[in-house]
Amino acid sequence: MHLSKFSYYSDFVVYPIVITALSAFSVAGETWLMRAHWLGAAAAGIVLWTLLEYVLHRVALHRIAYFVPLHNVHHASPLAFVGTPSWISVGSLGCGIFLPAWLCFGVNVASGLWAGVMIGYWWYGIVHHIIHHGARKPHWYLGGLRSWHLRHHYSPKSGNFGVTTTLWDNVFGTAISMHSKTVTFR
Ligand SMILES: [Zn+2]
Ligand SMILES: [Zn+2]
Repeated sequence: MHLSKFSYYSDFVVYPIVITALSAFSVAGETWLMRAHWLGAAAAGIVLWTLLEYVLHRVALHRIAYFVPLHNVHHASPLAFVGTPSWISVGSLGCGIFLPAWLCFGVNVASGLWAGVMIGYWWYGIVHHIIHHGARKPHWYLGGLRSWHLRHHYSPKSGNFGVTTTLWDNVFGTAISMHSKTVTFR
């Protein structure tokens, strides 16, 4: 959906604050074992985010009728301030990740997992922003991801749903090859 400039950029500030607060919760943990569990859960959360990023984009944003028009706004105007308000994304990840993990693994692991997923979401926001708004200098990581994501936008084929990693497209067979025709780069 269209966001105000303030709302669009608030992700970049709100997420580090929430992640730092959860990290402080871990440091305050009672034992080193608990802190190690928190860190392990956070690492798992980062990996889990990359899969969520792929599935949410491929299925929710490109298949589910409610979300498709919201995402089409980004495809129609890649430079517009389009996204999800921070309070909705933090709340959704809290309900979808923290609550079930809390019930299954306890509050310490749940907080680490939630923090890891939010680190992944925050990083996704930065990478996606730079892909569309950043300087087009060659870069070992971002340069490849830029042309990868622009093939998602402009190739006649459907694919390249991952933004921060090409891993899941390669696993699930939705990678668009370098040689596919692209219309224009923006
Ligand atoms: Zn898309
Ligand atoms: Zn995009």
